[in-house]
Amino acid sequence: MTKDFTLKVDILGYWGAFPQPGGATSGVLITTSEGKFLIDLGSGVLAKYFEHGNLSEQFQGVLLSHLHYDHMGDIGCLCYAINHANRVGTRSSKMIVYAPNSPAIMWKAIQYPYSDTRVLEDGMELEIAGAKVTVKKVNHTIECYAFRIERNGRSVVFYTDSSYDESHIDFIKGADLLICEATVSLGTRHSTGRGHMSDIEAGMTAAAAGVGKLCLYHLPSDGDIPFMRIRAGSKYDGPIVTPDMVSEFIL
Ligand SMILES: [Zn+2]
Ligand SMILES: [Zn+2]
Repeated sequence: MTKDFTLKVDILGYWGAFPQPGGATSGVLITTSEGKFLIDLGSGVLAKYFEHGNLSEQFQGVLLSHLHYDHMGDIGCLCYAINHANRVGTRSSKMIVYAPNSPAIMWKAIQYPYSDTRVLEDGMELEIAGAKVTVKKVNHTIECYAFRIERNGRSVVFYTDSSYDESHIDFIKGADLLICEATVSLGTRHSTGRGHMSDIEAGMTAAAAGVGKLCLYHLPSDGDIPFMRIRAGSKYDGPIVTPDMVSEFIL
């Protein structure tokens, strides 16, 4: 890696539940001068990752927010690819996978000989690729975590899937970038809304936490995305983007 930046954030997929043509569900690549890791690995994300990198030792692992398929559907194929990288000598180590250990059947399904699978817990701190990651349990239909990634005073918070909750604001406070779900909007039928937030609630969260920029994420397949930005902007005065317009952030 030649260029030194504090944190580079690439949004590889952003659809909730299932991908749209040419796209992918949840997946974010974090790059530092010390390596790379993925947050979530939903349907279509692995192919997008290969546009940005390979599986040499620079690739350190994956944090899975929760074990719904739109957040981990590609993990099995990544395990095959890690196996291949070890076999052909482009890699000589396992990848680290952090995930909740429930639902038990899904936890069991992500165990693999070339993965070092570690259990996420509320409040834990870990370090990966030279970045500090703080883990926060959020409100979803199954066990689910948000991540705050910090390095040299720069920060990004990854916050999906969760219902709106003012008690989460302290965790998000002052982040340079908030990647926040907006699964529900006026007129959408994509989701029942249970365990999720609307575009307006994403705006309220960004405003209350005083973040530098809001990126709406985990978008509904039937959403009017420009309209969703306007709705979020009714609550938050700062810059609002969606990954269809900006997918790379240098922090
Ligand atoms: Zn989801
Ligand atoms: Zn989910």
